[in-house]
Amino acid sequence: MTRLGHPLAFRHSMGWCYNKQDPLFINNEWHDAVNKKTFPTINPATGEVICQVAEGDKADVDKAVKAAKGAFRLGSPWRRMDASDRGMLLHRLADCIERDAAYLAVSGNNGKPYAVAYTVDVPMVLKCLRYYAGWADKWEGKTIPIDGDYFCYTRHEPIGVCGQIIPWNFPLLMQAWKLGPALATGNTVVMKVAEQTPLTALYVASLIKEVGFPPGVVNIVPGMGPSAGAAIASHMDVDKVAFTGSTEVGQLIQQTSGASNLKKVTLELGGKSPNIILSDANMDEAVDQANMAIFFNQGQCCCAGSRTYVQESIYNEFVERSVERAKKRVVGDPFNLKTEHGPQVDDEQYQKILSYINSGKHEGAKLLCGGSAAADRGYFIQPTIFGDVQDNMKIAREEIFGPVMQILKFKSVEEVIERANDTKYGLAAAVFTTDINKAQYISNSLRAGTVWINCYNVFGVQAPFGGYKASGTGRELGEYGLENYTEVKTVTIKIPQKNS
Ligand code: ADP
Repeated sequence: MTRLGHPLAFRHSMGWCYNKQDPLFINNEWHDAVNKKTFPTINPATGEVICQVAEGDKADVDKAVKAAKGAFRLGSPWRRMDASDRGMLLHRLADCIERDAAYLAVSGNNGKPYAVAYTVDVPMVLKCLRYYAGWADKWEGKTIPIDGDYFCYTRHEPIGVCGQIIPWNFPLLMQAWKLGPALATGNTVVMKVAEQTPLTALYVASLIKEVGFPPGVVNIVPGMGPSAGAAIASHMDVDKVAFTGSTEVGQLIQQTSGASNLKKVTLELGGKSPNIILSDANMDEAVDQANMAIFFNQGQCCCAGSRTYVQESIYNEFVERSVERAKKRVVGDPFNLKTEHGPQVDDEQYQKILSYINSGKHEGAKLLCGGSAAADRGYFIQPTIFGDVQDNMKIAREEIFGPVMQILKFKSVEEVIERANDTKYGLAAAVFTTDINKAQYISNSLRAGTVWINCYNVFGVQAPFGGYKASGTGRELGEYGLENYTEVKTVTIKIPQKNS
């Protein structure tokens, strides 16, 4: 089935069918890049090119920012729109995504199994957009009893033009996490999608137009980080930048934002999250959740439980059962509905992960399963487990972003807390125990933005997510997520004391 009038031809089938070239989305219109450049989008299961996408850079970002600034001007349709109608547009966008869910689940092209995209990513996208649709007319200021004869209140106003730079590991979901709060609060957006995964974002752009967002409210510019991404971070007319990606690029964005116009910055960055299994944990649950904590999405999660600390009395049993479980993971074609585990996103990530595996072997960690490529084409890596990992090994300190589990042994609670916190990161952590007192003590002692107890990777759009330390600044999701897209204006009115 081809949607007529749409620049991205597609069909509902277990495969891709695109026009040869995908354009940029600016001011509700499709544009080629100013310099006419394009870049290929790859199918990571085969390494083949799916299609070419227009490659935006500074000139295109300038055009997009101009459109977003125009859409934000005082008196524009967007600024004059009732907050409840902004919410209605977000609801309609969610309805269209739900209508086209089968297509969107096919076209993520980051190697994610179709079944996962359809049953996990798409429903989370819908919940996110609908949650923020509900907030649009409920994000209230306060009345404040200041001293003197004054009436004082606050207004929550949009910040303005928001630059949003997103990664490739959850292309559709990261787009929703960024658009939901920005649009609910009345901002306009220039989004740069990851160069590996531009397709779903461009399709969502067509839905944004279809449901009736005014031109310029959302602009989408695929392109490379150092050109298009950097142009957003340094732009003098961008009022805020929200970034999800690596800690290294997050540092660059913070510097560039400060050196340009001090735009507001929120960052959701890397992690090396500890997952602590105490000897009294429910073993079945711990093995299963620890497996999901690291292997879900082929290990390409910023919050992946990549340091599994296991108490010494259950260490051998846990290791044995974890290896058994990892070997059962169904690795293969993302379009096979039984597949749990697809390829890594691209050759760069694939090579990087293999080099971490080599480093683990050289540094003396015990390779218990996996450890190499899982197919002779595409970027598949076997679910890999290292035992006897020491805290100072590279694989225990750096973010691998791949299906590589590190298991470390510990003796006491105090010891494991100290070791778990000995990292520059602080995104997430987990503890498995049947003792609620220990669970709370450990949870309160961990320096991480999210702590899961007897579970992992549980995300509710209502609950904030973000990092301590080098894992980021600010929180996404929930009510907290709205704060990052609002300026607070204090208004003070003199109250006449006599009725003259
Ligand atoms: P990863 O290593 O997971 O690909 P990155 O941090 O490199 O993570 O990429 C996340 C997003 O940041 C992508 O959209 C990428 O294009 C963008 N990006 C990369 N480098 C820069 C940069 N110098 N300035 C702005 N954005 C960048």
